[in-house]
Amino acid sequence: MTIRNILLHPDPRLKKIATPIVDLSDELRVLADDMLATMYEAPGIGLAAPQIGVLERLIVLDCVKEEGADPRPVAMFNPEITASSDELSVYDEGCLSIPEIYAEVTRPAEVSVRWMGLDGAEHNETFDGLWATCVQHEIDHLNGKLFIDYLKPLKRQMITRKMQKLKRELAR
Ligand SMILES: [Zn+2]
Repeated sequence: MTIRNILLHPDPRLKKIATPIVDLSDELRVLADDMLATMYEAPGIGLAAPQIGVLERLIVLDCVKEEGADPRPVAMFNPEITASSDELSVYDEGCLSIPEIYAEVTRPAEVSVRWMGLDGAEHNETFDGLWATCVQHEIDHLNGKLFIDYLKPLKRQMITRKMQKLKRELAR
């Protein structure tokens, strides 16, 4: 498994709409494994392919938080939200492409998701809690949307300037 380089905001690739996956190739399975390794290494609870510069509809996540609980790595090809609850939930979100910045985002508390798994089969599951927040955040990445896009423009600009500064420092 290879740890991939995670793109930092602002980057034009994080604003693009990712393309649907037609065939589940071995190459894509390797990509999913690399993404899971990259996510665990970060550490994070979710990662979308555009975050490593691959503009295809693939996300990985593992939102198991309880100490000592078994990990649950999930790879979703072409994930799609098929239903959302009216009930909302607020979560202090972060993003591996926007390190050390957190902000409250309001999203549906429960979502049903359909995706193709590593086994090539269609899966359907309803998520709540952190899983619901995370899966919506990652699917947003496939549509070129970041969690800061939900914030007021002024706050978003502040964060983007901070990130530009951080990127300049890292480039030195
Ligand atoms: Zn993110």
